[in-house]
Amino acid sequence: MIRFDTVTKVYDNNSRPALDAVSLEVDRGEFVFLVGASGSGKSTFIRLVLKEDRVSRGAVYVAGQNVANIPSWRVPKLRRGIGVVFQDFRLLPNKTVFANVAFAMQVIGKSRAVIRETVPDVLQTVGLEGKNNRMPHELSGGEQQRVAIARAIVNRPGILLADEPTGNLDPTTSMGIMKVLDRINSNGTTVVMATHDDDIVNTMRKRVVELRNGSVVRDDAEGIYIGET
Ligand code: ADP
Ligand code: ADP
Repeated sequence: MIRFDTVTKVYDNNSRPALDAVSLEVDRGEFVFLVGASGSGKSTFIRLVLKEDRVSRGAVYVAGQNVANIPSWRVPKLRRGIGVVFQDFRLLPNKTVFANVAFAMQVIGKSRAVIRETVPDVLQTVGLEGKNNRMPHELSGGEQQRVAIARAIVNRPGILLADEPTGNLDPTTSMGIMKVLDRINSNGTTVVMATHDDDIVNTMRKRVVELRNGSVVRDDAEGIYIGET
């Protein structure tokens, strides 16, 4: 589903590579924690999958296609197949919960009828039934992240990328978010979650890929993470 073939990324104003000859394969349906300290290259990995940035050397394949060969007019199609969730939720502040999720369907031209039918279903998947008409500021952080996840999956992407999705949440709320992500993965979506939260990683026991200074230093099934203290 995602393949990095000896990918090096050097930001032009940065001498040390953000990613250094990273080779990694994530199969369809996997759940992978991408762990490592701040600056280890996790966000760079995510940006390269989305073709928000280009590799310096090597190649990134998504669903079998080298993203370097995707012309710019087709990049939106690549990104439609990939849901993304961030630490800071990034909701539209002046739109209701329903409208935030519906917006992702409107921009790809879904009909009002399909939107009205789909949005309540996906809000139920993330545990937000009954909150359709709330505004983001009326929600807790955990609820806001659930809205962001609903928006990310409403168009049924094959891949969900989550960049520190629990970074702003307390441990209990974070575990609730993890249950949602686990359920989405059980429904067949490939999930890659960047995090440095060792408690979450050690509770979930999924595949763990650890980056250190841009290199993969560990890749364990049902792995653990011992973060810096
Ligand atoms: P753009 O899409 O225009 O590159 P960015 O926000 O990604 O916008 O970056 C703008 C500039 O800010 C980059 O060219 C880089 O010089 C700097 N920059 C962004 N993020 C970082 C970072 N994490 N570390 C160092 N410099 C950064
Ligand atoms: P993480 O997500 O694990 O915190 P990043 O991928 O953001 O790591 O960063 C990896 C390295 O690349 C860091 O040294 C960071 O400062 C650098 N970096 C990230 N984005 C940019 C950018 N746009 N311009 C320059 N350097 C960057």
